[in-house]
Amino acid sequence: MDKKVWIAVDDTDSKKAGCTTYIGALLLRRIKSEGYNIIGYPRLVRLNPNCPYKTRGNAAIALAVEADRFEPFEDIVSSVIEEYAELEVEGTDPGAVLLLGEPDHVLREYYWHVLRDLSTKDEAKKIAERNKVRLLEWNMGRGIIGALAAIGADLTRDKTYELIAHRKREYWGTVRSVDPESVWEMDRKTYPLTFDNVDRETGDIRITPHTPCPVLLGIRGVTPSILEEAYRMLKIYEPVEFYTIFETNQGTDAHLQLMKIKDVKDNVSAIIDGVVKSKPRFTVGGHVFFTLEDETGEITCAAYEPTKNFRHIVTGLEPGDKVTVYGAVKKKPQGFTLNLEKIQVKSLVDLKIVKAPTCPVCSGKMEKIGKIGYTCRSCKTFSSKPEVIKIERKISCGIYEVPASARRHLSKPLALTTNY
Ligand SMILES: [Zn+2]
Repeated sequence: MDKKVWIAVDDTDSKKAGCTTYIGALLLRRIKSEGYNIIGYPRLVRLNPNCPYKTRGNAAIALAVEADRFEPFEDIVSSVIEEYAELEVEGTDPGAVLLLGEPDHVLREYYWHVLRDLSTKDEAKKIAERNKVRLLEWNMGRGIIGALAAIGADLTRDKTYELIAHRKREYWGTVRSVDPESVWEMDRKTYPLTFDNVDRETGDIRITPHTPCPVLLGIRGVTPSILEEAYRMLKIYEPVEFYTIFETNQGTDAHLQLMKIKDVKDNVSAIIDGVVKSKPRFTVGGHVFFTLEDETGEITCAAYEPTKNFRHIVTGLEPGDKVTVYGAVKKKPQGFTLNLEKIQVKSLVDLKIVKAPTCPVCSGKMEKIGKIGYTCRSCKTFSSKPEVIKIERKISCGIYEVPASARRHLSKPLALTTNY
């Protein structure tokens, strides 16, 4: 007999307020207070970052409870959503999913589909039927897509954790009182076991959001214990409602897939091996573009202004350089554009200037004579070889990433990467 019930929710927040993590944290506490045991950590599952319907982070919450039927949880989930979701806001379409036992392989694959592509409610309903799940919907109920995917998520390959502290209701919308110096200190002591705490380039604190949502702060890291330790180092000058540690697919690159240029489509996130075809160009807005080619086609790669110094790596590229690019693909009127998250420079072409040599006898100027070589104007010395000046390249081979402030939730920071 199955002794596990999966519960997931998604699309409970609006663009302006609310927060799926808050609903998740409340749900967890409400279920515990009814006497049930939670199995493992609740999950914060990021889904396709390019989804046009997403609110801020396109995140769903899932948790597993020790229980042998899901009926008792229908009321708990409904009451939490009806109390806290932004139901009156158009475009907030909460969905909840309850599953007895473990997801089947079709539901597991559905996670990858929703993460890397776009899905529809009809598709979600078919998967739900197979798995005999209970669906709860509010408004358009689009949230069932992400909720189902969150249950199907396989985090055994790679995962990180995030500790999220939520604010007391009376503080929502006010300035967050977290001492920035204590964040820098925490970062110094725990990075890279915690990551994205600060943006070293801009000096910004990254753990506190700037939206009116109930999140006070979120610390990301590789283990729950380092997060507890990091949290204790912070100086917080407002009461905290509660904090919750989630296991998550953030910082794992799970959204990326290795592709050929001919196979890319709108809204996928791709890894492409190719050769730089055109010299990168800066636009008036400070964005940098270049054309990449592989044996199947060409695509425009972009490093936008917010990627700051990362753009200097990109502008250092020359036609013929071999690179691997990582990023989200968008269909633009002029064709597909890949928005760079990372770039690996694998080989650099030699850059050189070929010109007429200086005369070795009289140091006079030599002149090209047909295809056979060069001759000196004054002493008539002949040379068959031109002078070749090697130009030093401004960049080196290696892998480079956009700064923390421009990084997507799902992107794996290089500090966590060991296999490049
Ligand atoms: Zn000469």
